[in-house]
Amino acid sequence: MTLNAKYAPDNIFAKILRGDIPTVKVYEDDRILSFMDAFPQARGHTLVIPKVAACNLFDIASDDLRNLIDHTRRIATAVRDGLLPDGIRIAQFNGEAAGQTVFHLHFHIIPAFTGNPIQAHGGQMADLGDLRELADKIKAKL
Ligand code: AMP
Repeated sequence: MTLNAKYAPDNIFAKILRGDIPTVKVYEDDRILSFMDAFPQARGHTLVIPKVAACNLFDIASDDLRNLIDHTRRIATAVRDGLLPDGIRIAQFNGEAAGQTVFHLHFHIIPAFTGNPIQAHGGQMADLGDLRELADKIKAKL
């Protein structure tokens, strides 16, 4: 997918938004959905997506982007307070060449724990029970 590719409504996050694929939710309102990454780079890896159809950062209205970033910080704050990491990486990829694999705009919130390096993109599938437990800790701080 190039930077100016058209939005494909069959992408996995569009399916999650439609409720066609289950996910462990952290936060939802009429404009935003946040859920646990199923193949986390660290425990507590959380994703934040807009409900508008946007492939990447260049494909979204400024007001929707501001709202998305505000919510990313709000949810990252709950990750900070709920999981007590030593650091937090916020990441966002645009285009396949940059490492994007799902072509619906999203921000990654990846907690970093000293002595436990963040894993590579696209690793092992997480345990569902663990994801639910982590999501509960984050939700408790929202
Ligand atoms: P990116 O590579 O930046 O496009 O990120 C896509 C992210 O979506 C990766 O971190 C994947 O682990 C994650 N992911 C893929 N499928 C699912 C899914 N069904 N539920 C939750 N996260 C997913």
